[in-house]
Amino acid sequence: SYTRIAEVEPRVQAFLKLDEEGARAAAAQLDELLVKDNSDKGLLFGLPIGIKDNIVTEGITTTCASKFLANYDPIYDATVVRKLKAAGSVTIGKLNMDEFAMGGSNENSAFHPTYNPWNLEHVPGGSSGGSAAAVAAGEVYFALGSDTGGSIRQPAAYCGIVGMKPTYGLVSRFGLVAFASSLDQIGPLTKNVEDAAYLLQAIAGHDGMDSTSAKVDIPDYRAALTGDIRGLRVAIPKEYMGNGIDPEVKERIQEAIRVLESLGAVCEEVSLPHTQYAVAAYYLLASSEASSNLARFDGVRYGKRADNPENLLDLYHKSRSEGFGPEVKRRIMLGTYALSSGYYDAYYLKAQKVRTLIKQDFDQVFANYDIVIGPTAPTTAFRIGEQVDNPLTMYLNDILTIPVNLSGNPAISVPCGMVNGLPVGLQIIGKTLDDAMVLRVAHAFE
Ligand code: GLN
Repeated sequence: SYTRIAEVEPRVQAFLKLDEEGARAAAAQLDELLVKDNSDKGLLFGLPIGIKDNIVTEGITTTCASKFLANYDPIYDATVVRKLKAAGSVTIGKLNMDEFAMGGSNENSAFHPTYNPWNLEHVPGGSSGGSAAAVAAGEVYFALGSDTGGSIRQPAAYCGIVGMKPTYGLVSRFGLVAFASSLDQIGPLTKNVEDAAYLLQAIAGHDGMDSTSAKVDIPDYRAALTGDIRGLRVAIPKEYMGNGIDPEVKERIQEAIRVLESLGAVCEEVSLPHTQYAVAAYYLLASSEASSNLARFDGVRYGKRADNPENLLDLYHKSRSEGFGPEVKRRIMLGTYALSSGYYDAYYLKAQKVRTLIKQDFDQVFANYDIVIGPTAPTTAFRIGEQVDNPLTMYLNDILTIPVNLSGNPAISVPCGMVNGLPVGLQIIGKTLDDAMVLRVAHAFE
């Protein structure tokens, strides 16, 4: 990994921190285990992995790509990190992202952008852009990301790799720095579906440290990769193939539909009528939760503390003004406004009702179908700088990924051809807790 990283990292810039010393020490310990006896040492034994920088790692700085946490050294591991260590994997370093996972291009990182390995003038997507770029560039084969509104699937699509958002509650959020707690989910970014199944197997499962963690038995995800999808009923929502979608991206998806049909699946058009309200509902709900979650960054408890404050209020004010970037401030203001007493019913409550309607849309389709498919994003990766000045166009990119964060369903993005030298992603959405089916269809397709 480190040889390849030295080769490509100056151009791709996927990492915020490399922990070569720690990784070598961990690898040496694994070697000792191997010498002792040769029995099974864990699912990911010896495999190098990169971790998005909003997942806390004991002894490795965890910044969320924010100046606020530039020097934050966690004193514990997130549950997923603990599980990865138990499975024998080796943490290589921490990956770049949009500040506090707010964004879709990595341009909101307070430190530096990451570049798309397919074309360095284009964004890698976001917010898990560092994770996707590192896997695409061959710096690591496994990475963890987080997905609140598409942040695993969209960068995976833009970088031509596999990225999965598991069912909400399947993977513990303990130690994931919260953006919007009712939407956040950790998941794998990998080269192929089999690797994703291995990684999900290692990190899924109930955790008493996360009150929203699902108490369910974890199936054998690798056993789901049968290659057989004969007779499966696949729904294609007409809203996912509408006007806003690039015609060449649509063509790639039409080709994917023919592949699935040739494998014996039955594909039919359906409607998810409330799709058009998803972006508005998401940005209200996610920002509301963010405004509350980010209140903990007060200049006293974590990270940054402004110099020479006049009083306590001034300390809060200065620390937050200096520590947060413009997108984070925009979300906090939007969320605080939406939650304020005079506006709560008009905005937050309304958005919650829309969320329920979107979930009901999915429930109705899944009463008759096994799987839903469509594009992961309306276009391929856009140029760096192209959308930075227009938050609204940036938000509208998320139309296809946001619905399942609102509903909780699992979804994966798998590579599905190219347009003008840039990858397209096929999104495969499953029933709640049927993550195995999502992996099965993705594996048969790839
Ligand atoms: N692009 C979306 C946003 O900016 C999604 C982010 C995410 O999933 N973390 O909120």
